[in-house]
Amino acid sequence: MIRDFEYLTPKTLQEALTLLDKYRDECKIIAGGQSLLILMRQGLIAPEYLVDIKGISELDYIKSDAKEGLKIGALTTHRTIEKSPAMKNGFSVLAEMERRLASVQTRNWGTIGGNVCHGEPAGDPVPVFIALNATLSTASLKGQRNMAVEDFCLDYFETALEPGELLAEIQVPPAPPHTGTAYTKFNVIESDMATVGVAVSITLDSGDGMCKDSRIVLGACAPTPRRAKQAEEVLRGKKITDNLLKEAGQIAAQEAEPISDISASEEYRRELVKVLVARVGQEALARARQA
Ligand SMILES: Cc1cc2nc3c(=O)[nH]c(=O)nc-3n(C[C@H](O)[C@H](O)[C@H](O)COP(=O)(O)OP(=O)(O)OC[C@H]3O[C@@H](n4cnc5c(N)ncnc54)[C@H](O)[C@@H]3O)c2cc1C
Repeated sequence: MIRDFEYLTPKTLQEALTLLDKYRDECKIIAGGQSLLILMRQGLIAPEYLVDIKGISELDYIKSDAKEGLKIGALTTHRTIEKSPAMKNGFSVLAEMERRLASVQTRNWGTIGGNVCHGEPAGDPVPVFIALNATLSTASLKGQRNMAVEDFCLDYFETALEPGELLAEIQVPPAPPHTGTAYTKFNVIESDMATVGVAVSITLDSGDGMCKDSRIVLGACAPTPRRAKQAEEVLRGKKITDNLLKEAGQIAAQEAEPISDISASEEYRRELVKVLVARVGQEALARARQA
């Protein structure tokens, strides 16, 4: 049962920020409502005011630039990202990730900003954004703040957003030369959340083909999506082979901090990390060699 609330519909970013500043802790932003309404129906949150930002067209865009990369407005829907021609320019992993997120109905209405701000540890986009070294911008009446997506998720369903603030934009820089990125998730029911999600990015040295840099990001394995930094270190400076990727997978499984829940036991999640890091690493490596 949803408790009564006052429903506010700003039409511009400035109007929205004024309302957020006025009502601060008493209000909640709603974008697509795909995650928020579930919490409200369960009685887990009961805001006095709902600030519906879905109608703010100035936050709904994808800009693509060879020098600056991608800029995605927070109100861009999952489906728009999935279908955008801009994803073909080195960002196909984002479209692939979106294709496996929820159902078409949810992707049609849910927004990328809502997904990132929900702070769900099993969400699909954040591990991919972290692998792509993405940053984001927040807006409030005080101005803009910029930070790495990696630093935005603080804890289980908790982000770095402050009262009066909204997420405005996500920026994905152009990938360095000879970089490949891949993502997959294991889920029992297609369109469900990840039991474990893994994103891997590999950059090869143009001269000797050794691994110059790597990012291995685990989803649903800790209170927030998190990099497996020791596993990344295993790859750096070496020629990547299947055996080396398996070793990275083993280290990542030790680094992970999964819980046991209705979807899987802790042990099963660690096993998934081991297998998926090696498998997604192979895909990222193949892409890096072609890039
Ligand atoms: C059936 C179903 C299946 C799903 N499967 C998946 C899945 O497989 N993978 C996956 O990753 N997700 C999945 N989801 C989650 C869902 O797709 C996303 O979380 C959703 O896209 C959130 O976007 P929204 O616009 O609906 O956000 P809302 O529900 O409106 O908001 C979510 C949260 O973010 C806040 N918020 C929204 N926009 C902003 C903003 N711009 N600035 C600050 N705060 C903001 C809200 O206050 C709220 O706390 C699923 C959801 C459903 C209903």
